Amino acid sequence: MKTFFPHPLKLPLWLTVTLYSLLVLLLAWGGGKLSRDWALTSLHAQGADRLLSSISQMRLVLSQYNYLPFLVAQNTDVHRLLQPDAKNQATVNRVLEQVNLVAGSTALFVLDREGQPLAYSNWREPLAHPRSPERNARYFAQALAGEQGLELRFNAETGIASLYMSAPIYTDRLAGVAVMRLDMPQLRKQLSIDYPLVVQSKQSELIFGTVPDWPLEPQAPLQLGEGRELQLVSLGQQQWIVQQVQLDDLGWQVAVLTDIRPAITQSRTLVGAILAVGVALALLLLYLRETRHKKRLQQERMRERARSEAQQRDIINTAQVGLIHIDRSGRIELINPMGMQIFGVSVELIRHRPVVEFLEKGFDARPLRAALDALGTDRFQPLTGLEVVGQRADGSAFPMMISIRQMARHPELGYLVTIIDISRRKRLEQALREANESLEQKVVERTRALEEAQAELVQAGKLAALGRMSASVVHELNQPMTAMRTYLAIAERLLEQPEALTRNLKQQEQLLDRMALITGQLKTFAYKKPERIEPVSLHQVMTQVLQMFRGRFDELELRLEYQAPDADLRVAGDNARYEQVMINLIKNACDAMAGQSGEHRLWIGIQDIREQLVVLEVRDNGPGIAPENLPQLFEPFFTTKEVGQGLGLGLAIVSSILRDLGGEIQVVDTEQGACFRVAMPVFRDPNDCKHEEADT
Ligand code: ADP
Repeated sequence: MKTFFPHPLKLPLWLTVTLYSLLVLLLAWGGGKLSRDWALTSLHAQGADRLLSSISQMRLVLSQYNYLPFLVAQNTDVHRLLQPDAKNQATVNRVLEQVNLVAGSTALFVLDREGQPLAYSNWREPLAHPRSPERNARYFAQALAGEQGLELRFNAETGIASLYMSAPIYTDRLAGVAVMRLDMPQLRKQLSIDYPLVVQSKQSELIFGTVPDWPLEPQAPLQLGEGRELQLVSLGQQQWIVQQVQLDDLGWQVAVLTDIRPAITQSRTLVGAILAVGVALALLLLYLRETRHKKRLQQERMRERARSEAQQRDIINTAQVGLIHIDRSGRIELINPMGMQIFGVSVELIRHRPVVEFLEKGFDARPLRAALDALGTDRFQPLTGLEVVGQRADGSAFPMMISIRQMARHPELGYLVTIIDISRRKRLEQALREANESLEQKVVERTRALEEAQAELVQAGKLAALGRMSASVVHELNQPMTAMRTYLAIAERLLEQPEALTRNLKQQEQLLDRMALITGQLKTFAYKKPERIEPVSLHQVMTQVLQMFRGRFDELELRLEYQAPDADLRVAGDNARYEQVMINLIKNACDAMAGQSGEHRLWIGIQDIREQLVVLEVRDNGPGIAPENLPQLFEPFFTTKEVGQGLGLGLAIVSSILRDLGGEIQVVDTEQGACFRVAMPVFRDPNDCKHEEADT
């Protein structure tokens, strides 16, 4: 069923902790404030009660003294005392003393109309009664006016405040004044007060109080909720709530002080409690969270393990190799489906049987024996990919590959045997071997056939080359021979004309020279490698060769750009061969340019002089060499010239001469024409070499 509640909001731990802490702090602050306000309010109410109680007690006590002056004013002894020449002062003194004692006032006394004291309750203490006439006292004036007198006076010496109450004494006229004095400490004693109380006059003089310090220092008022304010005073490092009221009749200010510490303590206690509960709750939540997390992890781990076990089981069951678990004595514990398929058995049949039973009887693969014998001992060495012969349940044998390893994690469980049926592979190997053998046979036969074909081709090639050469030689020789035949025929007729005959013979000699040149070229091939290597001046060779070509150059209107080598430059070899090299190269260049219109140019010069070799370049601006001809260029009898024009021996001879002398020839790529570079060995005097070696 789908719920409509969204997934609970997942906050990061730090944020949750921060929010929670803020909440707890807010609660503590609010709770503390509320509790303080509440406690202060209750303290305030308590203070109000105390104030009321103090005032009513004071009033009650004072009311007990109100009547005393009237009582004295009614006394007949007192009346007599006010008569002229009265002699009963001692009597009145005693009466007053007794009344004072009973009533608990401080003193009672009688004044005459002049304010002169006549009798005094405390007559035994001569210093205690008024010494001077009380004429100026307010209470005296009030009594003389026929009213009840009331006055608060402060003793300048002791600082004690005393309340005077008076009443007029009438005999047949207003004869005097009866006075009662009550010292305030005495009043205080009669009040049952266990809290700080201050009573002060309108002029802020202390009448009495129960505070150690005076005056009180007012403090800034304390704001409570709902806009209420509490008046505070400080007293002895402490703050107190002060509540006061003015008694209109007496003109006194009565103030009660209430310690605010209980409120503060209460609020602090509450804050502490809230914080403690907050922390405890947080710890509990964290603990619960941790426990839940651990539980979840445990569940996940268990699920993971179950999954991995299922996976392993799956892998084992579907593996395409036979897996057998054997115990430390070599008995089969478990076998996977592929293993059963390979051996053609079922688990029930195979379990607890020694694994050796599944190897062909009499088959003795030593490493396998060693491994099986060492099962359950420290000598055991793992066996990997050993090819042996297995035996199926029906007794048939088959080739298999066997591996035995100890269980990696739990060696005490025994060993894992891996079996791979390699019958198919063996069959394929056999087929491959047979195929290889037949292929080899075929290759031998083909090679032989090819060799035969190649020999035939070589033969044919040789014959063709020979044919080409014969045609050229025949053609080259035929021409002068025909001419000579003609000259000979003419010579017979010229026997009588010696001059003409001499000319004729000269021409025949020239023809013979030409024929000698042709055969001479062929002869070069038959030459052996020169045995003597001499210093050859390249400068001299070039001068001779160029001299020879002068006529041909003129004929071709050829412009020669020749950079003569240094006269003392010597190459190793012999003059005739270097001349032949140069003649062939220059002749080829001339032949190539001959068929071309336009300006004919030939460049000859030293291109490079290295330590061992001098490189001479021969370049023309003829048609150049077609790329397809490059590979055969230096082969004998390769020519692009028409039959009779060339034998195709020039470059082959050049190449062979240079090879023999230790140099080489190369065709170089150029934009136009052909360019040959001839590297010739620099001549070094063997004696110099010896000297050099000796020097080094
Ligand atoms: P032949 O000159 O008798 O043909 P070579 O061995 O001297 O024999 O030359 C072989 C071929 O090389 C020539 O037929 C020609 O095609 C090419 N050849 C040689 N030198 C040049 C050159 N300077 N310019 C163009 N082709 C050249």
